[in-house]
Parts: sequence; C-alpha cells; structure tokens
Amino acid sequence: MEWDAEVDVIIAGAGGGGLIAALTAAQAGLEVALFEKTEHLLGNTAASAGMIPACNTKFQHQLDIDDSVEKMTADILIKNHHESDPALVEALATVSGELVEWMNDSLQIKMSVVSEFKYPGHSALRMHAPPSRSGLELTKKLKRNVNALDNIYLLLQTSLQKLIQDDAGHVIGIQVASSEGTQYIKGRKVVIATNGFGGNKELVKQHIPEIADAAYFGYEANTGEGMEAGIQVGAATKSLTAYQGHAAINENTGLLVTWGTVMMGGFYINSLGERFANETQGYSEFAREVLKQPEQYGYIIYDERIHRNLLSIEDYKQIAEMEAFKTAETIEVLAEKIQVDVERLSFTFLDYRQQQNGQADAFGREFFDQNLEAPFYAIKVIPALFHTQGGLLINPHAQVLDTNEIIIPNVYAVGGSAVGVSGNHAYGYMSGNGLLAALGFGRIAGLHIVESLIEEKGGAI
Ligand SMILES: Cc1cc2nc3c(=O)[nH]c(=O)nc-3n(C[C@H](O)[C@H](O)[C@H](O)COP(=O)(O)OP(=O)(O)OC[C@H]3O[C@@H](n4cnc5c(N)ncnc54)[C@H](O)[C@@H]3O)c2cc1C
Repeated sequence: MEWDAEVDVIIAGAGGGGLIAALTAAQAGLEVALFEKTEHLLGNTAASAGMIPACNTKFQHQLDIDDSVEKMTADILIKNHHESDPALVEALATVSGELVEWMNDSLQIKMSVVSEFKYPGHSALRMHAPPSRSGLELTKKLKRNVNALDNIYLLLQTSLQKLIQDDAGHVIGIQVASSEGTQYIKGRKVVIATNGFGGNKELVKQHIPEIADAAYFGYEANTGEGMEAGIQVGAATKSLTAYQGHAAINENTGLLVTWGTVMMGGFYINSLGERFANETQGYSEFAREVLKQPEQYGYIIYDERIHRNLLSIEDYKQIAEMEAFKTAETIEVLAEKIQVDVERLSFTFLDYRQQQNGQADAFGREFFDQNLEAPFYAIKVIPALFHTQGGLLINPHAQVLDTNEIIIPNVYAVGGSAVGVSGNHAYGYMSGNGLLAALGFGRIAGLHIVESLIEEKGGAI
C-alpha cells in the first residue's frame, strides 16, 4: 500500500468531539492529522448552547452544589429508562469533572455553572458553559487551541471515506477525498468524530420515521459516513432509533428558544390555544408531541421575570434584540396578537394557574415554579431534529466493537458517530447528553490513545 502521509493519530471530523480528542493527543506530543469535510470548524457543536454537564467540579464546589458521579449516572439512566449501557454512562460522568476543569485551566476556556435553572432530569445544577452560553464561543476557543499547536495538521474540505485494515483486521489508516482526489493516510490510531446521520434524510426515514417530518436543525454535513466506514470494517451499531429532538425553535429567527422558558414556569400551547402534554418531561420527546398537533407548531407562554432571567443566554438575547416574541398586559390581548382563539387561551391560562398547587395536572406536570405575572410573552416555536444519538458500538474507552463485542484494534468513535447515553428513544435524551458524549468520549479516546501509545513504545512517546 502506498501512503500519502503518516501520523500518530488520525481524527475524522472537527466538531467538539474531534477537537477535544486532537488536543488531548497533541498536548502529549503526538502528531495528529485532523480531517474536516467542510470548509469551516463548526459542526453541531458550534450551533449548540455550549452547555456540558459535569459533576464534582471546583465550580460546583464554589457554589456549594452537592453532586457526584453516582448522582449524575443515576440521572442519565433514569431519563433513558435504563436503556443505555451503564458502563458508558459512568465513564462519562467520571471524566466530566476533569474535562471541564481541563478546558478551563489548560485550554483557557472560561467555564462556569449555569445556575439560572435546572434542566429536566438534572438532580443538581451541573451544566457548565463558557460566558456567552454558546457553542460558537466554545468552538472558536477550541480552534484557537488547535492553531497554537504545530503538531496538529488540520485539513479542511477533506472527507473520511473508508477505514483501511491490515490482514489481521487492525485499522492502520484511512482513505480521504478532497478536491485533489483520493489520499491514503497511515495512522497508529484513528478516531471517528463525524457525528451521526441527522443530515441524511434517507437514513433518518429508515431508522427514525417518527421525526422524519420535522425540520433538521443540525449540521448539514453530518450524513453518517463515519458510521458507514465503521460498519464496513465489521463494527456493530446500537440505538439507531435514538435522537435529540427539540420543540422550541423560533420559526422567524431560526434561533433556539431555551427550554428555560418552560422550566422557569412557562407553558406550551398548540395553534388552537390548548396545552397538550407535560412540558417538563423534556424538550426532546416534546418535539414528537408537537408533530401530532394541528399545524405542527406552537407557542410558549411566559412572563417578564422569565424573559429577564434568560437574557444571559446568547441565543435568547438575540431573540430579545429582534423582538421575536409578542408581549401584552393581559392574556386576552396576547391571544389577539398571536391570532389564537381568545377564549380558549384564556381558559388554558386560568386552568394552568389553578394547577400551580404542587399536584400533578392532567398531563402529569408537577413542576410549575412561580406564577406567571403580567406582562406576558408568547413566542412561536416549531419542532426540530437536532442530531441522532445512536451509532457505532463502543466500550468505555471509546474503542469500536464488532458484532461479537470484540475490540476492532486502533479505532475509536466519539460523539454522535458512536452510540450515546440516550437509550433508544427521544425521551432518553437528557439535556447535555450531546456534548457530554462528544467532548467526554473525545477526552476519553484521547487519553486512552496517549496511554496505549506510551505503552507500545515502552515509556516516552
Ligand atoms: C441547536 C443545537 C443546540 C444544542 N445544544 C446543546 C447543548 O447545549 N448541550 C449539549 O450537550 N448538546 C447540545 N446539542 C447537541 C450537540 O451539539 C451535539 O451532540 C455535539 O455537538 C456533537 O458533537 P460531535 O463532535 O459529535 O459532532 P459535530 O460537532 O457535529 O462535528 C462533526 C464534524 O464532522 C464533520 N464531518 C461529517 N462527516 C465527515 C466526513 N465524512 N469526514 C470528515 N468530517 C466529517 C462535520 O462537518 C462536522 O464538522 C445541540 C445541538 C443543536 C443542533
């Protein structure tokens, strides 16, 4: 085989998972080639709110937040109805604190606890994010770190096509394609970090028909090639029906309206002015509920207190600057402004207020936070598919496994290209599972690669 280049570590996909794996390996002195299909470093990671769940961090300790690996593991497993591999969940919970502190201390990405509200299923405040609470800031800062290291070779507009194995079945390199043609790159370890198949309509229809009609809100380039390359060398896949949906994309601006609107006391209505499900079950599974409603869109109704509290979140701040919502001193005027039946919305509002007594309502909602007070806000929202959560089967070191659950030597999968920790359904997605699986397994894979290459060399790299 004639190789075009040779490095220690090959990473396909330069989103959050790929960048973290690259930085971990390169900081230890390994030569890393990072191949990115598009001309930008963005991915879903840049579109995200940049919020990573982590436990036992110094940031939590400063706020006297009581949290642990056990609590975080239990929360994730409860949310996915114990459908995902507990060993993977525990591995992520264990690395999460070290990951966030390493990002803060070593990569100089200022992290802090998101203390404005708790997401569904989180028993402790454990979301950590950069100051703007935006994935774009996170990605820019990861990129800055990559640029500062001269042992990471970043090649844009170059796609992973195939993994290359030797006669013993060990992965020894990859085939990539760019405008210059096909190239063969030799590497001692390969990390697949190309996210899932959310951008591939056919695969979504095949594996997750229930969300195929929703808008796709993730990165268009995530079309499942990494997963396909893994399958071609015998890898098993798992949980391909899992995904993160979201029910709160503002149609006019295309921006994400945080679910904080609901978790701080707001409620969700359909185009008829009626509530139809428990909003606090989680935004991912709520997307499917909205798709069952007439006209397949809705409004979130909230108030001035919630509005003010959410201005610290970058996407919401932009929504506020564009005044993408309607406001009114009474629910009746608000209903007129959004052209929803006045009587029905008034009834829904009064009924909702009466439920705020600590008991579960007809939809099973128990958590209401505070009463809504005038002025009231309404924002139009649509459901979307953000990304898929199933993928290549991995072990807790992020090593890819075959259909007999045996390690395929030298190949790792992280983030959306691997099976995540969200079980098999939309309800299994707990806020933060996306970046946790991307950055967490990116860190785990990077550290494992460093350790195994040191071992192979009998000491120093
Ligand atoms: C609007 C939105 C908000 C979100 N907010 C949050 C949040 O706050 N917290 C959270 O935990 N999760 C959030 N998520 C989910 C989170 O963004 C993803 O789970 C996570 O970013 C996945 O990271 P990744 O590295 O696997 O993939 P990505 O960041 O998508 O990176 C994959 C990269 O691989 C490249 N690629 C694809 N195919 C190839 C190929 N063949 N060869 C080479 N490169 C390839 C792509 O171009 C892309 O750059 C959000 C998602 C969206 C859409």
